[in-house]
Amino acid sequence: MGQRIGILGGTFDPIHFGHLRAAVEVAETLQLNELKLIPSARPPHRDTPQVSAAQRLAMVRAATVGVSGLSVDDRELLRETPSWTIDTLESLRRELPAPTQLFLLLGWDAFCGLPEWQRWEELLNHCHLVVLQRPDADAEAPEVLRDLIAARSVTGPQLLDGPGGKIAFVWQTPLAISATQIRQLLASGRSARFLLPDSVLSYIHAHRLYRAPN
Ligand code: ATP
Repeated sequence: MGQRIGILGGTFDPIHFGHLRAAVEVAETLQLNELKLIPSARPPHRDTPQVSAAQRLAMVRAATVGVSGLSVDDRELLRETPSWTIDTLESLRRELPAPTQLFLLLGWDAFCGLPEWQRWEELLNHCHLVVLQRPDADAEAPEVLRDLIAARSVTGPQLLDGPGGKIAFVWQTPLAISATQIRQLLASGRSARFLLPDSVLSYIHAHRLYRAPN
């Protein structure tokens, strides 16, 4: 049996307890050996002003110090080309032993947007998809995904066997926290405590991030 490795990509601008709680719950439910948090690069003009990719990475590192089972992977920030998930999966596959089971975590919204992703039909050649369901996610999947769901979904994550190729929908404790909300609180001078780790908040304050321009 190979290792079981999960992947959670995001802009993490900044990372918060919504991301971290989802990561920990899925790692436990799926009995993962490791869950990799992979910050994505963004075109420079789309980075939040004054917050660089290196700072987003530093915040992810600060959030995961001493958290067993979570690791940080900076390959998308080191690449010169855009952050396509298919490239990340191919690069991971080149490094990992063949029987490794890969689980790509996606929020329901991200899953519904899948058909816009680069070479999205090839994703399942490399990994399983674990779609995080939320109580408010009652919208129907787009037409183009219905055949895929019918062909590839299993009724529970315990049925995701083999290196990849299947889709499971997983429930998790909803935490209505978003990075957008945190950026807005900080920009208006309000507290963001208890929405994200204190270590991340300390980094934000030390580097004077997310402040409203004077
Ligand atoms: P923003 O508000 O800037 O759009 P975000 O808070 O949604 O950011 P992202 O970095 O875009 O954070 O999210 C990365 C991944 O984490 C996505 O798959 C997203 O669905 C998931 N995610 C974000 N917030 C939560 C949350 N509160 N609970 C569970 N999953 C979340």
